[in-house]
Amino acid sequence: MKYVIISDIHGNIEALNTVIPIIEGEKPDRIICLGDIVGYGASPSDCLKKIREIADIVVAGNHDFAVCGNTSIEYFNPIAKDAVLWTRKNISQEEIDYLRNLPLTHSENNILFVHSVPSEPQSWEYISTLGDAIEEFSFFTEKICFIGHSHQPAIFYEDRMKRHGIYINERLELREDYRYIINVGSIGQPRDGDPRAAFGILEIDKGNFIFQLKRVPYNIGKAQEKILKNGLPEFLAMRLAMGK
Ligand code: ZN
Repeated sequence: MKYVIISDIHGNIEALNTVIPIIEGEKPDRIICLGDIVGYGASPSDCLKKIREIADIVVAGNHDFAVCGNTSIEYFNPIAKDAVLWTRKNISQEEIDYLRNLPLTHSENNILFVHSVPSEPQSWEYISTLGDAIEEFSFFTEKICFIGHSHQPAIFYEDRMKRHGIYINERLELREDYRYIINVGSIGQPRDGDPRAAFGILEIDKGNFIFQLKRVPYNIGKAQEKILKNGLPEFLAMRLAMGK
């Protein structure tokens, strides 16, 4: 059984279109999207179409819910707010309805999928540090919880004695007696200093779990050009090249 887990596309069709053939080459059984299909980037509608085509399951991100009005944009910073308002005007009513009806979590095969946190998915809290992760382990029962949201790949673990740690590995064989919270990074706006698109692959073979983080370079210049041409905030173009 092979899963591909993608997150935080953020309207970046250049990144998504570059990654899709690589995902398809992996021949996954299931493709799961952890949300934030839209917001920030200049191609929200194109990204929605693609994700709806390829993903078996999609859970909602805060930008998805902000654009359709499920989540208030009051707490969004001015740049994110501008991008939400622009996105609203640049997708169809049918697409807004699609976003509105996305679930907040999905669970299958002892794996939980959620955009932000298992404790309260719609609080849109972040798991950035090991301390954040430790608290969250008690809010799900599955072996693995996949998350996005911070755009920073990381693997947090809890052993049977409730001891915790973090890996920033590109490949990890998961232990049978450990539980994990795994952030798969972002396709369309990485923030870990590496501007390449990121996504995760989980292979389950006879009870063995192997996780891999993939990085894929794409045409950042083209995505930046579109952002500027559409009058979106300049910083949104700049940050793509910095991976910040
Ligand atoms: Zn995001």
